[in-house]
Amino acid sequence: MRHCGFRTSYGGAMFCQDASYLEGFCKFHYQALQSGEINENGVINEKISDQARRRQINYHGVQTESRSYLTDRT
Ligand SMILES: [Zn+2]
Repeated sequence: MRHCGFRTSYGGAMFCQDASYLEGFCKFHYQALQSGEINENGVINEKISDQARRRQINYHGVQTESRSYLTDRT
């Protein structure tokens, strides 16, 4: 099964592990694409200033171990 094409800005090579839904993205990231929060290459829009939202987009579908590590960062 293909996974989502969103690439987290953390670490460079980590993809969202959710199954792809449309346009190569999972449902969550497809909606983020539609609202302009990520681009079609699966990269987060640097103009998003809401850190909580950035984190939510970045770590959606990333494995729990990484997520708990990253929660400690600001
Ligand atoms: Zn995704």
